[in-house]
Amino acid sequence: MRPHFVKLRPNLVLACLLLAACAQAPVRNPLATWVPSSNYDTRRPVIIVLHATEQESAQESLDTLRSRNSGGKVSAHYLIGGDGRLYQLVADAERAWHAGGGRWGTITDLNSASIGIELDNDGVEPFAEPQLATLLVLLEDLCERLDIRKTQVIAHADLAPTRKQDPSRFFPWQQLAQAGFGVWPRDSDGSPPAGFDAWLALQAFGYPLDDRDAAVGAFYRRFRGRDDLPPQLDAEDARILHSLLQQAR
Ligand SMILES: [Zn+2]
Repeated sequence: MRPHFVKLRPNLVLACLLLAACAQAPVRNPLATWVPSSNYDTRRPVIIVLHATEQESAQESLDTLRSRNSGGKVSAHYLIGGDGRLYQLVADAERAWHAGGGRWGTITDLNSASIGIELDNDGVEPFAEPQLATLLVLLEDLCERLDIRKTQVIAHADLAPTRKQDPSRFFPWQQLAQAGFGVWPRDSDGSPPAGFDAWLALQAFGYPLDDRDAAVGAFYRRFRGRDDLPPQLDAEDARILHSLLQQAR
């Protein structure tokens, strides 16, 4: 009995080989001679931005983050439902569109430098415990695997205080810090030294001061759990900022 061979069309074989090669090949600039080095790695995020979806359900947000809404296309790397279910929409190494315009410290392109996590929350209610439990597991994973410093967890409102308020004054930053993520003022850091400038400290911590009222509003929301705007930064604000700077170094 004759052995049975599958006859392959040469053009098809060639096309498959080319496709396979293209899938593997790095993108090269045709202007230059390719002299590859093995001394490199992938670019990596250095900060994590927390959001509240400010929508009605996780499903509604999953739809928004995968389509075009009224303000254009948006996305995030992760979404955590109120029930604690964790969804990933964009790979860690890719650039999700969650931060928009803004600045934090010296970082001016937050989307390129960050991982974005959306929390299913309407912005006017406390966050669910199962959701926070999942968030802590995810933060541990991200900081460990991507080598992100655990203190580098911020609010969307921190980097864009004129445009954003999420994840809202209800987000439990103190609880997060007790679990080792982000920062929270410590009593042990005591009072700031004489001449301590709270405005400079606010800027040194990371807040953009283009609009000072907006920056103070974001600071108040995160560290004093309030949405109102103080007439000026007071001694308690200075104590908080002094402690934050001790930890941010
Ligand atoms: Zn946001």
